[in-house]
Amino acid sequence: MVKQNIDRSDSISPSFGPHPCSAAQMDCSERRNLSVQAIRRTEAVTRLAQQHQVSRKFVYQQLAKATVAIDQAFEPAEPKDQKVLFYLPITKAWIHQFVLSLILICHSSFRGVLDILDAMFDYHDMSLGTIHNIAQQAVVSARRVNDSQDLSGIRIGDHDEIYQANRPVLVGIDHRSTYCYLLAVEDSRVSRREFHRLAAVAAASMASGCTGLRGRAQSPPGRFIDAHIHAHADLYDPDESVSTSIIQWMDAHDVSHAVALGAMRGYVSDERIEKGLPHPDRLVPFCVIDPREPSGGRKIIDVLREYVDAGARGFGEYKLKLAVDAPESMRVYEVCAELGLPVLLHIDSQYSFDEIGLPRFAKVLAELPECVFIAYGPGWWASISGDVQELRSSKTPVTAGGACDRLLTKYPNLYCDLSAGSGANAISRDLDFGREFLIRHSDRIMFGTDSIFPEPKDKGHFELFGNMDLPRQIKSRILRENAHRLLKLV
Ligand SMILES: [Zn+2]
Repeated sequence: MVKQNIDRSDSISPSFGPHPCSAAQMDCSERRNLSVQAIRRTEAVTRLAQQHQVSRKFVYQQLAKATVAIDQAFEPAEPKDQKVLFYLPITKAWIHQFVLSLILICHSSFRGVLDILDAMFDYHDMSLGTIHNIAQQAVVSARRVNDSQDLSGIRIGDHDEIYQANRPVLVGIDHRSTYCYLLAVEDSRVSRREFHRLAAVAAASMASGCTGLRGRAQSPPGRFIDAHIHAHADLYDPDESVSTSIIQWMDAHDVSHAVALGAMRGYVSDERIEKGLPHPDRLVPFCVIDPREPSGGRKIIDVLREYVDAGARGFGEYKLKLAVDAPESMRVYEVCAELGLPVLLHIDSQYSFDEIGLPRFAKVLAELPECVFIAYGPGWWASISGDVQELRSSKTPVTAGGACDRLLTKYPNLYCDLSAGSGANAISRDLDFGREFLIRHSDRIMFGTDSIFPEPKDKGHFELFGNMDLPRQIKSRILRENAHRLLKLV
């Protein structure tokens, strides 16, 4: 059987050889002997063919096979360091882990990370903003681990004050193990006397097993975070009357933090803004610009970076008479992605306008996966229903298949807030659908009111969402946790 299967194709046609069947009848060892004889060149090929009663062509074929085998046997061995040890399937999640390792283990700069990705992987699909976001997201889980550490075993603490980005940071190290148990950012440089007092408080707290100075950095209490209020430049009034009235309103409504939209605006930086927002532990400033306004030669990124340095946590409210995917707006979104600023976007039929089904917005979300958007407004919330006719609020029951469901499911970079009449109406117009919608997307929906100071009007948000029958965890995500995580609040 083997004989039949080997080199049958080499059989010689009767018209070319004296003994047509000889080649076909040769077994493997006979063919090998013939090839060895041919390779030795002790006899001419013609003579070998005659001796074995095969054609010259057949002899040459055996000679070729033997030559290939010898060549293979004497090929230079692969150098040891070129041997493939293992193959690495690289996913986006792996890249994120790699980026974090470079930052935390190798203390690489963000630009250094970009250089390594370029040099080692020829990978360019990463911006400085994304690296910043990866590092910031890690802070959230690191903080959880950090807060769960038992510090009661620390007996002697070494304390010092260091500077990070020009801000003083209190540091505490366990003398015995050199474990760093304390890194607390201070609002301003503390006096030596105050520093020793804080260190003593930390030491006393450790002795009783609690987390010491870390406790001072805990969030202000409150059931709600309002992701959407307005006060604009009034926030910076020297007598702080508006900001004080906001804090009083927040306290009355159990709000720990409120996002002050448009607190920093335009291309011209404002001295008052540089001084900082009043109540920085409670008010979260967003910045905004109109890309169509004259910039005096300043680049959008430079202006927004200044605002970030002054404390801006996001961009918006962005509400201009432009298509949601207008080129000017796309440029702004790109810059926000680079700086890690979420973009709060008003959508209706005139401002950041789109068509039924929000096809333009879908295109923006797909093209800029690194930019986080917080959508709201009549156009967005009308799209909760599949039978939408106009991008404005409606009171009719919701039908399934709306763009809100579709886009929130498809694009992880999309959030939304429940502010204004449009947000409350979207849920209250059909409470059964609204409740299920909140549960379905509970990790990407944020509570907000759209209160405008100094004269906020109650549009029923606290009552509607505060009293809504929802699982405890779902409710807490929507009322507070999602904003806390997205805006990296302390
Ligand atoms: Zn608004």
